[in-house]
Amino acid sequence: MPLPVRRRSVPVIVGSVTVGGAAPIVVQSMTNTDTADIAGTVAQVTSLARAGSELVRVTVNEKEAAAAVPRIRDALDRAGIAVPLVGDFHFNGHKLLKDEPACAEALSKLRINPGNVGRGSKRDPQFAEMIEIACRFEKPVRIGVNWGSLDQDLLTRLMDENSARSQPWDVMDVVREATVVSALEGASRAESIGMPHDRIILSAKVSGVQDLVSIYTNLAQRCDYPLHLGLTEAGMGTKGVVASAAAMGVLLQQGIGDTVRVSLTPEPGGDRTREVLVAQELLQTMGLRAFTPMVIACPGCGRTTSTYFQELAQRIQSHLRERMPVWRQAHEGVEAMTVAVMGCVVNGPGESKHANIGISLPGTGERPVAPVYEDGEKTVTLKGERIAEEFQDVVEAYVARHFARREAP
Ligand code: SF4
Repeated sequence: MPLPVRRRSVPVIVGSVTVGGAAPIVVQSMTNTDTADIAGTVAQVTSLARAGSELVRVTVNEKEAAAAVPRIRDALDRAGIAVPLVGDFHFNGHKLLKDEPACAEALSKLRINPGNVGRGSKRDPQFAEMIEIACRFEKPVRIGVNWGSLDQDLLTRLMDENSARSQPWDVMDVVREATVVSALEGASRAESIGMPHDRIILSAKVSGVQDLVSIYTNLAQRCDYPLHLGLTEAGMGTKGVVASAAAMGVLLQQGIGDTVRVSLTPEPGGDRTREVLVAQELLQTMGLRAFTPMVIACPGCGRTTSTYFQELAQRIQSHLRERMPVWRQAHEGVEAMTVAVMGCVVNGPGESKHANIGISLPGTGERPVAPVYEDGEKTVTLKGERIAEEFQDVVEAYVARHFARREAP
């Protein structure tokens, strides 16, 4: 099946990263530290960047946070973490940016929510002030609508227009339209103030899967700005993962989406980097990008009565992730490798033959041997206590033989 054709969008440069155009779909994330806590924020940005986040957004909600941003940027640069930072601004963004110009300078993009820039007569001048500052520092912006903070004046206007229709739309259709219009009007207002067309990214986030699909499908037809995809308030655990994948999967399959964020609520003590891994896995399992070699493992069944099979699958998965930073530097294309770890001979050899490298473990009652396949051919049969270690050695040797060595920079 051919890959979906991406919708045409105008590329936007965000620091060292291009969003939109023919650039690969960008993975991004957001910190949940207090931005004024410089050490804590630097540590979290570092771990998100190391996990593969290509842009990291930080909230800029008060003077201390704005003042911390340039220091966070400096600390990251000193540590060799070049990931571009995006500032998330709401009600007081115009004031923070005016009072702390070094904050604007240190950021690679400003996220502005047109529903949260001020009420009534303050809204337009405060929005204009932020756009003017972004223009002065030559920074791109994301006009980021969220229907939890939808521009109420706009919604009222569209509701009034709707009631004047001979056949009024359903109220939820008007809310969805208002979400799209808020993003488009925000972008057009930004351009009228002087923001270049190729410095604007749009998002229109909602928390319902069907609403997100409908809104982005509509938005994609009405503009050529790059689109930032994300299901807001996706939730915790498997619900958040499934809802995000369901919504974004449908859109990505239609070629819609230039950058993605998976907004997972972390479980207490949970790891923030999970949202980065989920975003990477979403793109990789759809064949849109490759980040790390993929493990294809069967679910196990009554033929795998011991835990050995699960342990080996997990061990191989961890080994591949741990080795990836080194392999990425040394071996070109290794991220596209597939490794099958199968629980018995029923589907094991067949699936192993489809992968670059595969192992078929012995199921209950089978001979205690594990045939290994490389590029469809059986190359060795492992047995005994050290199957896991020996299989890792086989994978290492395969990588060294099959993926070209990169020249040292
Ligand atoms: S490959 Fe074997 S162990 Fe795995 S699910 Fe299929 S029958 Fe069960």
